[in-house]
Amino acid sequence: MIPSKNATPQHWLSLANADWKTQMKHLIQSPDQLRDFLNLSDRQINEINRASQLFPMAITPYYASLIDTKDPQCPIRAQAVPTIRETDFASADIEDPLAEDHDSPVPGITHRYPDRVLLVVSQMCAMFCRHCTRKRSVGDETHTPSKDSLKNAIQYIRDTPGIRDVLISGGDPFLLSTKRLDWILTELNGIEHVEIVRIGTRTPVVLPQRIDDELVNMLKKHHPVWVNTHFNHPREVTAESKKALRKLADAGIPLGNQSVLLRDVNDCPLIMQNLVHRMVQNRVRPYYMYQCDLSRGIEHFRTSVSKGIEIMEMLIGHTSGFAVPTYVVDAPGGGGKIPLTPQYLISMGTRKVVLRNYEGVICLYSEPPQKESSCPADCQYCDDLTPKSKPTPKGSKWATNVGVGKLFDDSNNVIAIVPENLERVQRREENYQENHQENINDGEKND
Ligand SMILES: *Cc1c(COP(=O)(O)O)cnc(C)c1O
Ligand code: SF4
Repeated sequence: MIPSKNATPQHWLSLANADWKTQMKHLIQSPDQLRDFLNLSDRQINEINRASQLFPMAITPYYASLIDTKDPQCPIRAQAVPTIRETDFASADIEDPLAEDHDSPVPGITHRYPDRVLLVVSQMCAMFCRHCTRKRSVGDETHTPSKDSLKNAIQYIRDTPGIRDVLISGGDPFLLSTKRLDWILTELNGIEHVEIVRIGTRTPVVLPQRIDDELVNMLKKHHPVWVNTHFNHPREVTAESKKALRKLADAGIPLGNQSVLLRDVNDCPLIMQNLVHRMVQNRVRPYYMYQCDLSRGIEHFRTSVSKGIEIMEMLIGHTSGFAVPTYVVDAPGGGGKIPLTPQYLISMGTRKVVLRNYEGVICLYSEPPQKESSCPADCQYCDDLTPKSKPTPKGSKWATNVGVGKLFDDSNNVIAIVPENLERVQRREENYQENHQENINDGEKND
């Protein structure tokens, strides 16, 4: 079955630089459209069909035109064309590994960190990346939020004064009409406590023609707007994508890049170094390099964590500091992003810190004779800079009053952070309460 007239590669290849709406009307959604181009057998066509029943296939003519048809390992092809391995569900796989649906106060919002939220505005993408972590919902148009649902999500942001940063995500937000996006940004702009908005989009990579004058002129009205994109391989940096990045940067939009570490695509220090160099040449700051999540059907893309550490070892110090992304594991269960780096702290004495550098040189940093800085309890900055929405105990600082910071905060007597319902502690407290009712020590509890 051939769904549209752009069945032959000649036809869709002729659209590789067409405007974005034309390309969206001629997405490659059936493996038959790739049969001649990739020299696919009936068995391969059948496998692609099976895989795309779990997660649909959609490739823009532009991105498909970047495939090296002679290379079965082509990194562009690996990200775009389904394989039968997507139907293997590995034992470690989780439907919603980041608990994004769980940490959601209202539909469309994931509120994980106190000061920032993820706002999902679309479930459509120009291309469905085979490694997508949100396969469970992306591509299902019935999941794309209605205007009423968006209003409701924006109302949550309006009602929650602690939120200063809104991350607009999807799907791909740039697949909404410019008008709809303009409305969302206008609503967010009108909320006093929202200081910045950032948009995550893969269009500069898979549909760079989307970054047109109408779009950037609209975005410019809503500054400060930041944009994060998703380049995974240097071959994705083409004349067309450079033009898109230039338009965004010229509109005063700070650009970041979030790559995913993918087996047989970019799990190589040389490829990553080349990618980050191309990013900074185009005014894009490498932001995160993600360890591949545990989402269903992407196990064949996962690398070991040690591969990520090895790549960081080859980047840090070897290239410009601002070309080095932060390597993160998004914690399964919803704990947020956890940064990982090679070890540079080798040892410490009371007055001395022993460090190593990227070349293997081991050096000594002497601590100052006077270690204490004066930090008066009644410091004016503490009062002025602590967010009003974050009341803190007297003498405490909000910034140190969270997580491990509690152990640094002198205004409490916390000496350990202990998981709730820890069996060992329950055992001990029961005994303790029985024998010494009057001497309960709160010092070892969580708060
Ligand atoms: C990644 C993410 C953010 C933003 O985190 P940053 O480290 O500030 O980029 C916010 N909310 C959710 C749910 C996220 O996954
Ligand atoms: S653009 Fe992003 S959300 Fe869309 S399929 Fe690719 S990774 Fe998933």
